Amino acid sequence: MKHIPYGRQYITDEDINMVVETLKSDYLTQGPKIVEFENNFSNYLGCNYTCMVNNGTAALHLCAMALDIKEGDKVITTPITFVASANGFRYMGAEVTFCDIDPNTHLMDLEKLKTILMDSPKGTYKAVIPVAFAGYPIDEEELHKLSKQYGFSIVIDACHAIGGSFIDSNGEKQMVGNCKYSDLTVFSFHPVKHIATGEGGAITTNRKDLFDKLLLYRTHGITKDSEKFVNNNDGGWYYEMQELGYNYRITEIQAALGISQLKRIDWSIERRNIIANKYDLAFKNINIQTPYRAKNIVHAFHLYIIEVDSDLRKPLYDYLKENGIFSQVLYIPVHTMPYYQKLGWKNGDFPISEEYYKHCLALPMYPSLTDEEQNYVIEKVINFINNK
Ligand SMILES: *Cc1c(COP(=O)(O)O)cnc(C)c1O
Repeated sequence: MKHIPYGRQYITDEDINMVVETLKSDYLTQGPKIVEFENNFSNYLGCNYTCMVNNGTAALHLCAMALDIKEGDKVITTPITFVASANGFRYMGAEVTFCDIDPNTHLMDLEKLKTILMDSPKGTYKAVIPVAFAGYPIDEEELHKLSKQYGFSIVIDACHAIGGSFIDSNGEKQMVGNCKYSDLTVFSFHPVKHIATGEGGAITTNRKDLFDKLLLYRTHGITKDSEKFVNNNDGGWYYEMQELGYNYRITEIQAALGISQLKRIDWSIERRNIIANKYDLAFKNINIQTPYRAKNIVHAFHLYIIEVDSDLRKPLYDYLKENGIFSQVLYIPVHTMPYYQKLGWKNGDFPISEEYYKHCLALPMYPSLTDEEQNYVIEKVINFINNK
């Protein structure tokens, strides 16, 4: 029986050797591999700083902390995301508001965002957290303009979008996560994501003030930097806990795995785009909506999402599963989750997101998907649609 998931990690012998070497080294955590992974990550994206952490959710929580989000502060995210995009700010007591999506890109609709922002005095919203959903880059330049006008910080949830890029109005290529137009950008290294370290996450920024806070909060609010001490430095052992932080550190073992995989990221994005183009072509003449993309972007294709008639979506999901193909529905709109409904959100609040949810289905998309496997997926999808 075949088993073709919608996403999976790709681990080579070189990755395994890197991990084994690290296991034999002096450090299992808080050592040189984390710093190396951070430096390589910053170099790849073209940002000043990277703070590696134990997962993407912790990364989002740390962003909220670094931005000094307080009980009752208003922030805005999208309903079509993993719950963590909203939860990271809820941990700080933020009041999370949602902004509906664009029906083509499925990203936060910046026109709708503008309408929300215009309705309130400048400074009402402390942060906007758009999601580069499926790997499609945000129009960060436009968002940046809005942030200046309305006074909010930008945290891009790019857990799907490492390797994505866009061409800005100056004709320059901007990597998602270079933070030219954002304050902070967040990544995840969960096994379904592009880089898989088991669990893992990263925050990138160009702001030294935010980076210093991230480092402090990542490790209990403790500093060993004598220049920052508030009290007397008693000697070599001395450290200070200055804020209430967490243990959100990644291990050396995970960092080694990440360093090794980061070397293949360009190949991985290229391979994902080849797979996407092949799906596009195969589904051209059948009744399936394939993913939209504009000319000025490189899609990172964490997910390849088709949209089908709402009454066919569940039967197609079940049919594929019977044939060993494990497609997935991403996402159930966050505002329809019982927890968020307890906070006052209702079905009907974000009609475009809710409509999208009825049609969407993510097909297998990962660099090690073979041609033969993809042909099999295509054959099954077309077979199903044509017999309806
Ligand atoms: C995976 C993911 C996260 C959370 O990352 P974890 O590493 O699993 O904690 C957050 N946001 C989005 C959009 C994600 O896909």
